[in-house]
Amino acid sequence: MNRTRTRFAPSPTGYMHIGNLRTALFEYLIAKHDNGDFLLRIEDTDQAREVEGATDIIYDTLKSVGMNWDEGPDIGGDFGPYIQSERLPMYRGYADQLIELGKAHYCFCTEETLEQQRQEQGDSFVFKDPCKDLSKEEIQAKLDANTPYVIRQTIDHVGKQEYDDQVYGHIEVDGDLLDEQILIKSDGFPTYNFANVIDDHQMEISHVVRGNEYLSSTPKYNLLYDAYGWQRPTYVHVPPVMKDEHHKLSKRNGDASFQDLVAKGYLPEAIINYIALLGWSPDNDQEIFSLQELVKAFDVHRISKRPAIFDIDKLTWMNSEYIKAMDPEAFYEKVLPYLHKALTKDFDLHYIANLIQSRIDRFDQEEISEKIDFLDELPADYDLEMYRHKRQKSTKEKSVVSLKAAYEALAQLDDWNEKTLEDTMMALPAQLEVKNSVIFWPIRTALSGKRATPGGAIEIAYLLGKEESLRRIQVGIDRLEKDLATA
Ligand code: GLU
Repeated sequence: MNRTRTRFAPSPTGYMHIGNLRTALFEYLIAKHDNGDFLLRIEDTDQAREVEGATDIIYDTLKSVGMNWDEGPDIGGDFGPYIQSERLPMYRGYADQLIELGKAHYCFCTEETLEQQRQEQGDSFVFKDPCKDLSKEEIQAKLDANTPYVIRQTIDHVGKQEYDDQVYGHIEVDGDLLDEQILIKSDGFPTYNFANVIDDHQMEISHVVRGNEYLSSTPKYNLLYDAYGWQRPTYVHVPPVMKDEHHKLSKRNGDASFQDLVAKGYLPEAIINYIALLGWSPDNDQEIFSLQELVKAFDVHRISKRPAIFDIDKLTWMNSEYIKAMDPEAFYEKVLPYLHKALTKDFDLHYIANLIQSRIDRFDQEEISEKIDFLDELPADYDLEMYRHKRQKSTKEKSVVSLKAAYEALAQLDDWNEKTLEDTMMALPAQLEVKNSVIFWPIRTALSGKRATPGGAIEIAYLLGKEESLRRIQVGIDRLEKDLATA
């Protein structure tokens, strides 16, 4: 049996589309599941689309998710070069060989000839090339006269072309529907349609994995493999990644690329985990997978034909699970710049990091600032209605009593730490003969001015320190008393 070898063959467009990354991931998993090779090939023959620095984005993306390649432009390998533009001279030789075999021909047709056929045939346009009937002499005369030309695949429009796809099953295409596609363009460059066959054969690719938009072109590629007498690869066509039922996810329409998601605070490993489940599922209900676990579990036969819908909420949930599972020190290192931006005063940042690790979905400045900026500055004029809480059995009147008792007790504390704060605060409910919540709810409210906070009264008091905690409790008392007096 052939060694399993797959390749990721992106065009350098300047960003990593989520659908492309998902294809790359499936290629990687197929290869690694079999202890095979995963190759990187840059398809840059469409020079018009070239974007500066685009290859680095491809390298950086794959590296950041741990999808290391075994052969590629930067590290070489036995089947290089791995950049198509560096392979140019070779394609022409293969095209000439096809002409010899009668499976390709020169085409001198002008745009007008094509347009005429397009008009005659309407929507189901399949180009049938009159040039394939030119005699040797006619061809030579045109070449001698420097008439511009392309080289096209010669197709007998008879019978059916068939193959088996690992995902879509048996595929049959009517020979009559196969157009005589261009193999070598007038600028001498190969088309994707030609280069992919030559390269995949030369690089000994066993499994060609790509989007299902190639399902109907594959019979033409197969005819090329057959013409050279080469073994056809195994095909794994994958369904598209959709934004919703009707629209493909598309960077051009403003949908997020991998880079955009990282910039929005998603972790590369969470993104990879999530996209593995776009169109693939394990045979149990496990959802959280490391790359190594995916390699182990991956099975081509469990790739679905159904288009997968990209659900940002699901990704966000998964990201929060990854954040929770981070080593606390690694989390601290990563969140530190966000904490510095969110806070101007001096705080125990390790302590804050611990408090928020299980409470953020993303590494996003806005989200993080929103959670902790009350520490810097008590929100002015926060809503006093917060002190009234049915479930916490709290009223404004009771809150004043609780806050006064808390102020008195805390003012006597010299040693301000979590333990002393807890002892002091926990003594208050018994002293006032009320439930815990009647004390803790108003204190937390006075200290934060917020409905929801990371951590409770004790943690916040610890972070704020004695002076600021007492000041905020006093603000609460004053505001409540004023409010009750005017009610
Ligand atoms: N360069 C092609 C693309 O980006 C690759 C398709 C393939 O994997 O063969 O669509």
